[in-house]
Amino acid sequence: MHSVQTDIIKQGFMVKRSQNKKPYTSVNYKKRWLSLTSRYLIYSDNTPENKSEIKGRIDLQNVHTIEVANKFIGVKDAKGEPFLIGYHGDEDYTLFLIATDPKERSDWIIALRTVCADNKNVKPFYHPVPLSGKRWPCCDANRNADGCKECEVWSLRPTNKEISTRNKENDLPNGSSQTQQQQQVSPIMPGGAAPGTPSSTKPKTKVVVALFKYKASESGDLSLDKNQEYEVIDDSQEHWWKVKDSKGNTGYIPSNYVKEKELLGLQQYEWYVNDMSRQRSESLLKQEDKEGCFVVRNSSTKGLYTLSLYTKVQQPHVKHYHIKQNSRGEFFLSEKHCCISIPDLINYHKHNSGGLASRLKTTPCDRAAPATAGLSHDKWEIDHNELMLNEELGSGQFGVVRKGKWRGSIEVAVKMMKEGTMSEDDFIEEAKVMTKLQHTNLVQLYGVCSKKRPIFIVTEYMKYGSLLNHLRRYETTLCNNRGLLLDMCIQVCKGMAYLERHNYIHRDLAARNCLVGTENIVKVADFGLARYVLDDQYTSSGGSKFPIKWAPPEVLNYTRFSSKSDIWAYGVLMWEVFSCGKMPYGRLKNTEVVERVQKGLILEQPKACYKEVYDVMRKCWSHLPENRPSFRVLKDQLLTISQRILVD
Ligand code: AMP
Repeated sequence: MHSVQTDIIKQGFMVKRSQNKKPYTSVNYKKRWLSLTSRYLIYSDNTPENKSEIKGRIDLQNVHTIEVANKFIGVKDAKGEPFLIGYHGDEDYTLFLIATDPKERSDWIIALRTVCADNKNVKPFYHPVPLSGKRWPCCDANRNADGCKECEVWSLRPTNKEISTRNKENDLPNGSSQTQQQQQVSPIMPGGAAPGTPSSTKPKTKVVVALFKYKASESGDLSLDKNQEYEVIDDSQEHWWKVKDSKGNTGYIPSNYVKEKELLGLQQYEWYVNDMSRQRSESLLKQEDKEGCFVVRNSSTKGLYTLSLYTKVQQPHVKHYHIKQNSRGEFFLSEKHCCISIPDLINYHKHNSGGLASRLKTTPCDRAAPATAGLSHDKWEIDHNELMLNEELGSGQFGVVRKGKWRGSIEVAVKMMKEGTMSEDDFIEEAKVMTKLQHTNLVQLYGVCSKKRPIFIVTEYMKYGSLLNHLRRYETTLCNNRGLLLDMCIQVCKGMAYLERHNYIHRDLAARNCLVGTENIVKVADFGLARYVLDDQYTSSGGSKFPIKWAPPEVLNYTRFSSKSDIWAYGVLMWEVFSCGKMPYGRLKNTEVVERVQKGLILEQPKACYKEVYDVMRKCWSHLPENRPSFRVLKDQLLTISQRILVD
């Protein structure tokens, strides 16, 4: 029977997917009454007034994930807006709940995240769909694979104070909120809204706001105007969503250009740059070179924010200030000036320096929009005639790379493949998959021109070219900025962790195969391409072009590539970065390198390298692949080191 709960924070009906903790039981969807307290999420079969029975509860201390889930397409009983709660029990479990509309879902997510705000071991990635048999259908990985989708930053939650104020505003005489009352009168039926549901509780559509301007290029696409709202019609594909604008026009848009209105948080502000590192924020602000230019970014401590401010007082430099919160939940930079929200605080300091090195005057302008996954919805074949080819950027294994423009507007890099260097048909098939790999630290593949020979590979253009050349060119400045070197390694690690999550092996990771763009962004390029090379000198471990110096013993001995062989190569890449572009093992011949590696001799600690970072490299060079860490673990370790060594 229902026990009396004194501290109910939120309650209401939702549809719950069975958790199937016992194997071989069938999946079902049932309407449940959910009660959120400061300790538990309890689910019962009815409201407390109606003889309810508690069916289960989750101890909120064990929750590690609270995220929007993908729709259960084709499941009659699961209509609505799903989200999931991942938690540790004797095993790892996921509870899927389905709210009636996006607003209700977002209210639940915010309330849950607020209660769980201090939870330890919050996960950075999740799978947005339930496990099917032994595989995750979202990424076709096996059940032990890490999540394939990045979690939201929980810190975008409102403060406890805002929640309690909002609850007070909604309070009705009997103590339950308006939404709860409506739900008690017209419970949500598993198949959708109850008959006669008042119009105000009809499922609302998902509304997104454009974070960047986007110009439609194909007839089925839709242009986006920054800050405008769009109604989502179809979000079943990851990278391209069909939306409707205020005039009723519909079409596809890149999903990474918009953000759900309910979850927008600070992203609506020009000054918020999300996960940008301290080093990259410094590069950005120095490049802008304007007194009082500032950004707000996520601090390396999850849940906190940092203000980075450029000033020319005394000498040009960037100052970093933690945005703190007092016991009342108010935000401040200097304790004398507290504000109810971060935007209010920024606004205050726009008018008063209030202890800062300068008043907040301006934000960096013209920041580039991110690359899209392909140049349009479902497009990976690019017409040769639509490419304007300009200067040569360099040349490599496959031939010349030229800068270009697609349809006169989008800057691209075009790799013109020397005939006979790669198995083209296999690669063209693979390119369809590769355009769908999208991450800030991966060079985006836009598509291929395969109708004529030579074939062209069209990718995102990276202004500063290869990481190796960049390290060599700026050796003197870079070797005095070890923070920047560490940040470069972390960026590569993030891109590689994404590939690892998608079970994608690079096979030729090295500084020469990473590229540098504006704001010191580093991206991994040419992932997976090695599989299509036809040149024996490159593919066989005895060949003169084989990247021996980046290869672990199991590759040298049995050509056994895996994410763990990528880890070894990553260790060598870190060494290249901290040596500012030196050749690993100097002038040693390949045969001598093989001998050394087989004997367990490793590269020496570069001069500019922190001891802690060298320890990480050494872990990458464990003789047995299973003793090497994963990219996901490495990334966390490097972030912790950077937090410890560098002031945030
Ligand atoms: P690769 O054939 O990939 O080794 O490329 C040869 C050279 O072309 C690189 O070292 C870079 O300097 C340049 N390059 C390749 N791809 C790009 C790109 N996407 N943007 C800018 N430069 C590039």
